[in-house]
Amino acid sequence: MSAKKIVQVALPVRLRRLFDYRVDHLNQVPHVGARVLVPLQKRKVVGVVCASRETSELPLSKLKAVSRVLDDKPLLPKELFRLLLWAAAYYHHPVGDVLQTALPVRLRRDGPSEPKPLYLWRISDAGRERLDTIPARYAAQRQVLELLVSADESAVPGKSLSSTLPNAAAVLARLEGQGFVEKVAADLPGSPPETEAAAALNPAQQAASVALKGAEGGYTPFLLDGVTGSGKTEVYLDCACRTIARGRQVLVLVPEIALTPQLIARFERRLGSSLAVLHSGLTDTERHRAWWCARQGSAAVVLGTRSAVFAPLARPGLIVVDEEHDLSYKQREGFRYHARDIAVKRAQLADIPVVLGSATPSLESMANAANGRYRHLKLESRAGSAKLPKVEILDLNRLALNDGLSAPVVGALKDCLSRGEQSLVFVNRRGFAPVIVCTECGWQALCPRCDARQTLHRRTGRVICHHCGSQASAPSTCPQCQKETLFPAGEGTQRVEEALVRIFPEAAVMRIDSDVAGPSDEIAKAFQAVRDRKVDILVGTQMLSKGHDFAGVTLVCVLSADQGLYSLDFRGSERLFQQLSQVSGRAGRRERRGAVLVQTAHPEDPAFARLRQHDFAGFAKEALSERKAAGYPPYVRFALMRAESTQSGAPIRFLRSAALAGESLASRSAVEIMTPVPSPMERRAGRFRAQLLVRSKDERRFHRFLEDWVQGIEVSREAARVRWSLDVDPQEMY
Ligand code: ADP
Ligand code: ZN
Ligand code: ZN
Repeated sequence: MSAKKIVQVALPVRLRRLFDYRVDHLNQVPHVGARVLVPLQKRKVVGVVCASRETSELPLSKLKAVSRVLDDKPLLPKELFRLLLWAAAYYHHPVGDVLQTALPVRLRRDGPSEPKPLYLWRISDAGRERLDTIPARYAAQRQVLELLVSADESAVPGKSLSSTLPNAAAVLARLEGQGFVEKVAADLPGSPPETEAAAALNPAQQAASVALKGAEGGYTPFLLDGVTGSGKTEVYLDCACRTIARGRQVLVLVPEIALTPQLIARFERRLGSSLAVLHSGLTDTERHRAWWCARQGSAAVVLGTRSAVFAPLARPGLIVVDEEHDLSYKQREGFRYHARDIAVKRAQLADIPVVLGSATPSLESMANAANGRYRHLKLESRAGSAKLPKVEILDLNRLALNDGLSAPVVGALKDCLSRGEQSLVFVNRRGFAPVIVCTECGWQALCPRCDARQTLHRRTGRVICHHCGSQASAPSTCPQCQKETLFPAGEGTQRVEEALVRIFPEAAVMRIDSDVAGPSDEIAKAFQAVRDRKVDILVGTQMLSKGHDFAGVTLVCVLSADQGLYSLDFRGSERLFQQLSQVSGRAGRRERRGAVLVQTAHPEDPAFARLRQHDFAGFAKEALSERKAAGYPPYVRFALMRAESTQSGAPIRFLRSAALAGESLASRSAVEIMTPVPSPMERRAGRFRAQLLVRSKDERRFHRFLEDWVQGIEVSREAARVRWSLDVDPQEMY
């Protein structure tokens, strides 16, 4: 007989500890990884069992009892559970919150683990007969039956009928009552797609494929470093097919689903197995279902954004991280994990290969490839016949600008139009102008809640702060000197769009930025319009740069490359180089060679010479040696403690006391605690912010230090007066 009377449960609270509950009243001790409903103060909350024990530090009589066991088997597979505990320890984040992040909303509540079955609809034999005799006035019934007939033998989800016919649900219910349609339970995430044959791999892809095949048996991390359009996706697909054929599942991470519909479509078309897609646009039920398909193993491929790195897998076989350098893999609040780094750890725990792919890998990954921790696979030229574009740097010190456009840019756009080809124009900011200034007294439109300027959105006649969203109607006279001397300075996407419409009245100009792009299908529609050649010039923010394959685009213009160059962040030049390479990668992806024009006031910066030669490797090597000399990541580990408060002095006071508290421990652990400083934008959305950097060369000792340090801070009185957080491996230094 087991004498386990206590379980240690992770609860959704912000404390870095587990909670003990009695289970001696139950017939069976709940499994590790199962959910339980437990009392917490006056509430009942759902927690996850992390361990069972014979005794607690408290006497048994002082402990509360588990109210209900929600899962009779572990909900989280062992492999995932271990990963989550590792992540909580690595990021020094409350384990309860980490486990919450990994569960779909439905499973954070005390409901059943299994989702309600998804039904598909199929026409019956009676329904086929009915179709010949159906009276004309039953138009909706006829339409539904016809749609089901056209689906042939495959059953159709009600949802896809509702998209053509809004009242499909009611019609289906009636038809079912009459026996004309039948409901079948589906355990797959979607209807099984037809498969498309793979293109023959070129020699470079072949070499990558062979290397990947050789590593199928266990953990090997790969960096697939291939220029834009070099056919990385084909390599993923090739490797995925083999993994599925071995009966294993594939996890594919992508930066943003809305921006990568083509990748999903390619996986759907190519893999004759079911695909579960996990992203933030799903309803709770859809997410629960996709999660369950992954958990049960009925989904052969699980494709999703950042949080999908925590998708449960019954038989993990391969992990792919596409565009591994992308910033969206880093969670920016709460549990600040990096999905790429977690993916690598997961592969290690599951003993499977992981492929990180990018045309512009992060310097962290480049360093790991250089020191032999990752195997470096290269695809150095574009697949098929396409060539990399010609990049030209335009010196803004010698060129006049009209609405942000120089004469060479206008000329190139004109030539491109006359050839009947498409172009992309990148602008840093959305809105009309980044600031309104008074030419008389120098007044500027400032955000009342942030240390930032407000952007003019002329069409709506408003000024908006892009940091906190606060807005007001745009003034027509200067609020300070009352003169009519206000001037919109600088360019946003709207201003450039208006200028292009004026210069090229015959061209179809479209703008995409987060002001126009609401729901993700809006964006998908816009991109489809570009592919259908209904757009000549597409204006937008970096949103346009990611992964799109537009066949007709031969010209890319970047109106200002200067923002990233002198940014406060030590990653500024890395980000700029990645962005410029990615946007350049949109040009000339077919027969005709593309051209890229980059406007800058600093053409002498060495980054531009590298960019012209498409020499990312050279750039990375140089940047890494600078990082090493300066003591920056990846050679030194960083963690950033942030604090904020409505009280102006409070964050700095808190960080000073935190620094003091860690001082002696830090000096014993080879950890350096820097001086607390106000954040670069000290006031944001009405709150004052400050930050404290700690760093170390020794990863193990660093983490031991952080653990002790954070535990002390968590229970300190100062911590209660501010909002604070710890960011391990911060990607942004503000
Ligand atoms: P990446 O993922 O590196 O940007 P893709 O896999 O999207 O590259 O490939 C870019 C283009 O080249 C696509 O249109 C793709 O169909 C084509 N392509 C890829 N591999 C081959 C190949 N081996 N032969 C012919 N065309 C290919
Ligand atoms: Zn004025
Ligand atoms: Zn603001």
